[in-house]
Amino acid sequence: MEQLDVVILGGGVAGLGAALKARETGRQAVIFEARDSAGGLLDNFTIDGFRFDHAVHLSFASEEKVRAIFDRTPYITHPSDSYCFDQDRWLKHPVQNNLAPLDANDKVALIKSFLARPSDLAGDDYESWLRHQYGDGIAERYPIRYTQKYWATPASALSTTWIGQRMRRAELDEILYGAMTTETPNTYYTKEMRYPQQGGYKAFIAPLIADSTMRLGHRATAIDTAQRTVTFANGVTVGYQKLVSTLPLPVLARIADAPAEVAAAASQLKATAIDLVSVGFSKPIIKDLWFYIYDEDILASRAYSPSVKSPENAPEGCSSLQFEIYSRGEQSQYSKEEVIANTRAALVKMGIGEPDDVLFVDHRVLPFGNVIFDLGMEARRRTVLDWAAAAGIASCGRFGSWDYLWSNQSLLSGYNAF
Ligand SMILES: Cc1cc2nc3c(=O)[nH]c(=O)nc-3n(C[C@H](O)[C@H](O)[C@H](O)COP(=O)(O)OP(=O)(O)OC[C@H]3O[C@@H](n4cnc5c(N)ncnc54)[C@H](O)[C@@H]3O)c2cc1C
Repeated sequence: MEQLDVVILGGGVAGLGAALKARETGRQAVIFEARDSAGGLLDNFTIDGFRFDHAVHLSFASEEKVRAIFDRTPYITHPSDSYCFDQDRWLKHPVQNNLAPLDANDKVALIKSFLARPSDLAGDDYESWLRHQYGDGIAERYPIRYTQKYWATPASALSTTWIGQRMRRAELDEILYGAMTTETPNTYYTKEMRYPQQGGYKAFIAPLIADSTMRLGHRATAIDTAQRTVTFANGVTVGYQKLVSTLPLPVLARIADAPAEVAAAASQLKATAIDLVSVGFSKPIIKDLWFYIYDEDILASRAYSPSVKSPENAPEGCSSLQFEIYSRGEQSQYSKEEVIANTRAALVKMGIGEPDDVLFVDHRVLPFGNVIFDLGMEARRRTVLDWAAAAGIASCGRFGSWDYLWSNQSLLSGYNAF
């Protein structure tokens, strides 16, 4: 059996961050990646000359360590303008500050409801937070509806610990102003979004991939923490001095034979699976970087344009879109046929191009998208992380820390894991 110094499970940006730390501290690290390609969620795929990332992916990293790596790749800077589709209208994001396109009666009802919002302390759940922030009218018409689509979970069952700067707090002046004019300022939490000129989002981490030792096609299936060994689906077993795992905590608990109480906590950690529906158009139809979709009859909650992120993502004269559909759990709740038919109907409903402009609709599923912040999740996560630490496993990354981490934060999570 081969004996290794640092074994890193997962070749996404967190695993690459851990390998960087190993290089900087003079340790020998080998990354083992299940797939036949590096990058994890930051990887991409190509169909007939169209490149698609795995969901939206734009960078707003501010950390010096991360910028020093990402900025080695020439990039395009985009303003963070985005839109929302609600029934037959397009509103600027965030909707509550951009109600101008609505009928006057709707605006009056929503603003009156905002003025009458509860003034007592909000409860611990997200629905209560939304009703206290925006009033019942805005909360029910927009974020409560959207939550069910994006988190595949009712707002009443979610905590609020993930919100941070992600939700714009309600201000009367902003709501009134945006109800009267579409000339509103951009209040998104980051003004600048960066994307590689060439090679898709993965190009930002190309220097890390080039400098790391990675063995592809190695899916870890068993970890023996007493013997300090990892066994892979291809029959290989290696020994380690130090083990770093970026695997999702429920997967880690399954393959590392966690005690019953930990296994039970891990099995209750839920994330969303994402149906990625990628569309190639024969014309330059798409101009918006990304948009949110509120309508329930459209399965997708969000779409973005790879060809707007970089023209190099599509053949000359063409354009592209990718839709994201969320399910609770590691599998999609929809069939491929249903997803494709629904996406084609959505294009018609939203007035995006003509059916004849569509060159292809591709469908694939990512088993882990967003960690769901169910009420009580933090305590279950603590149980699993404490067990992993005691077993000598440095668990990190978006799914190894079980947190809402952007790519820069996942990189640093791996870097700081040991
Ligand atoms: C919808 C969506 C949109 C996002 N948008 C942005 C954005 O705009 N900007 C931004 O900065 N970040 C964004 N992110 C976040 C970013 O994708 C993550 O923070 C980051 O990619 C996570 O990296 P990771 O290495 O922790 O996990 P992953 O990328 O998931 O890497 C884990 C790796 O482990 C491998 N693996 C799994 N099981 C095994 C096993 N048993 N054995 C061996 N290998 C295994 C997987 O194949 C994978 O390669 C987005 C994420 C999602 C889901």
